[in-house]
Amino acid sequence: MNDAGRALATALSEVLGDRTAKVLSKELGLSTVGGLLRHYPRRYQDRGEPTDLAAVPLDEPITVYAEVAKAAKIPFRGRNGFRLDVEITDGRGSLPLTFFNQWQVERDLRPGRTAFFSGKVSLYHGRAQMAGPDYQLVDEDADLERAGEDFAKTVPIYPATGAVATWTIEKCVRTALDAFPAIEDPLPAEIRSRYRLMGLREAFEGVHRPAVVEDTFKPRHRLKWDEALPLQLVLAQRRLAALGEPAVPRAARPDGILDRFDERLPFNLTQGQEEVCERIFEDLASTHPMHRLLQGEVGSGKTVVALRAMLRTVDGGGQAVLLAPTEVLAQQHHRSITRMLGPLARPGQMDGDPDGTRVALLTGSQGAKERRANLLDAASGEAGIVVGTHAVFQEKVDFAELGLVVVDEQHRFGVEQRDALRAKAGEPPHLLVMTATPIPRTVAMTVFGDLDTSELKVLPAGRSPIETFVVPAREKPNFLARAWTRIREEVGKGHQAYVVCPRIGGVEGAQDTDGDGTQPAASAAAAAGSADGDEQRRDPLSVVDVAAELTAGPLEGLRIGVLHGRLAPHDKDEVMSRFAAGEVDVLVATTVVEVGVDVPNASVMAILDADRFGVSQLHQLRGRVGRGGVPGLCLLVSEAAADTPARERLDAVAATTDGFELSRIDLEQRREGDVLGAAQSGRRSSLRLLSVLRDEDLIAQAREAAEELVRGDPALEHHPGLARLVVELTESDRADFLAMT
Ligand code: ADP
Ligand code: MG
Repeated sequence: MNDAGRALATALSEVLGDRTAKVLSKELGLSTVGGLLRHYPRRYQDRGEPTDLAAVPLDEPITVYAEVAKAAKIPFRGRNGFRLDVEITDGRGSLPLTFFNQWQVERDLRPGRTAFFSGKVSLYHGRAQMAGPDYQLVDEDADLERAGEDFAKTVPIYPATGAVATWTIEKCVRTALDAFPAIEDPLPAEIRSRYRLMGLREAFEGVHRPAVVEDTFKPRHRLKWDEALPLQLVLAQRRLAALGEPAVPRAARPDGILDRFDERLPFNLTQGQEEVCERIFEDLASTHPMHRLLQGEVGSGKTVVALRAMLRTVDGGGQAVLLAPTEVLAQQHHRSITRMLGPLARPGQMDGDPDGTRVALLTGSQGAKERRANLLDAASGEAGIVVGTHAVFQEKVDFAELGLVVVDEQHRFGVEQRDALRAKAGEPPHLLVMTATPIPRTVAMTVFGDLDTSELKVLPAGRSPIETFVVPAREKPNFLARAWTRIREEVGKGHQAYVVCPRIGGVEGAQDTDGDGTQPAASAAAAAGSADGDEQRRDPLSVVDVAAELTAGPLEGLRIGVLHGRLAPHDKDEVMSRFAAGEVDVLVATTVVEVGVDVPNASVMAILDADRFGVSQLHQLRGRVGRGGVPGLCLLVSEAAADTPARERLDAVAATTDGFELSRIDLEQRREGDVLGAAQSGRRSSLRLLSVLRDEDLIAQAREAAEELVRGDPALEHHPGLARLVVELTESDRADFLAMT
């Protein structure tokens, strides 16, 4: 029974008996000793010295020593279950307790019994009471002093359910720990000593039975390694495997299409762009596939970097595909690439350059004929560059020689999607993923742990700073009027404006938000939802209503266009083209303009009901202005009252343009699991103690250790304990860690 090697795999029924094991399995999904010991306390409670019942404080954890005066069981009318009302007294005062459906409590707390009770006293209908306190009975002949001391300790509080209370779990954990005085440690001794990690058995003891809370720090640190290391091992194995994959190298061609393009480029590349391009060219020239993540603030000029990589691929005899998350963006990329290439995009035409290549576009809304022509160009190799949406690309698209895949504005592009992509080409193509949403280093090390990363830190010269202001529409209505005046002034100077609304509007019940941006609108709304307290919130403003109001009122006489996800695709394309050509002054839109849209002449953006958007989303949105030589202005219009969390988020966005800082704020507000996509999958994340946000150093160390372990022992044959942790990870929670959808 107490074999250290198989301790963790032992069935709970062997240790706790069938009945208890069954309950733990049903209620908490725990079936092995390992599972139970990794069911860590959520927090600890210090019970402190017993309090006098005559003077109990409200809403803070206390312990009292008292006798049960009365106990009454009150069945629920018409359904199963009961409430137990207990009154306790210590001779100086008395206190009512309530319990729900707890048979054991009914048996324990009979009048006359004495016990230590621990919990919080709160007001319920104006009366002080303690709901469901923890307690420990004191036997008649017990040594009171000792019983009190024993009870007044640091108590682990476990994630529990109605049927399994935290103290029941505590008892089970004790039994399991006592049954295994030795537990084999999967972490190799040299790793433990190098990173000063305590042994596994000792760490379990420390988190489950600490004398004081401080005693849990080192054990928790060690147990976090058990979460960080397997993940990093998987990623290290993937990196190693990728090194073994073959790819067709794409070498430079002197005086090829790339050189011709560079001659046409109307600006100089920034030093950062030059450097990143060089790195990418090195990768492309390698006989192994590139896996690179390019991060760069909005407006940092990622597109031209991608285009140069695509042209290098064409020079090397391959084709390149650029994938965008939305149709609007795919169309814009197609337009701007075609424009930048000029005659180079028109080989075979009168005014074209015979050394050029065709740029095909594939979107879901194309007519059958147009689409067939583009598919043909891709399949024949006529088109050296193919631009399309992710959605289209999931369907059948053939390439003559796919050499490079560029994924734009998509940080939620997990390992599995990348695998699916690679399956499209015979030999794995080179891969470049680009994102403007800065990813904190730790997330880069986990979700993107198998990618090399590059960063564009400096914006191209001549970029003007964006000024951002919060417009408190309710407190200061004249500020809002002033905002519309500002927009009129900008238009008067020949510039253009965006007005962004959270909803489409117009028809009832139909899909009313644009979920095709980088963040689901719902999550932004949820993030903002609690802000206004219990006040009844009106519907968020809609594009349709706002456009009508502005046309009739504050922006009367200006050329106003409307853009949202429910428009027919060619209408979307048309309004975007007209806006880009300066034929529309004000574009009233949903978040379809969130990513990538590039109209340098636009100088103002008003975001209405700004509190309905997430922090990173706001940052993305305002990146649409200030792209030309004109300074950008962003107005965050909101009715959220000062001092609410919603307003604080807006103030934070107004206060800094540092995307990394903002992404941190954003992540801190989301639940940890969301970072790894666990919330979407509906499963419990495997991360119990490890925080992707706070444990940056630990994750970096684990990455270093994993790299070394895998280099010496790629399949972990000599580290069976670690291999087992890796298998557990990949089998149970693969999606949580490795796929961000
Ligand atoms: P993002 O990184 O957000 O995708 P884009 O690639 O859309 O940014 O670039 C934004 C704008 O900056 C485009 O109009 C582009 O032509 C311009 N641009 C890119 N690189 C430079 C440069 N080195 N100098 C001047 N303008 C540039
Ligand atoms: Mg872009």
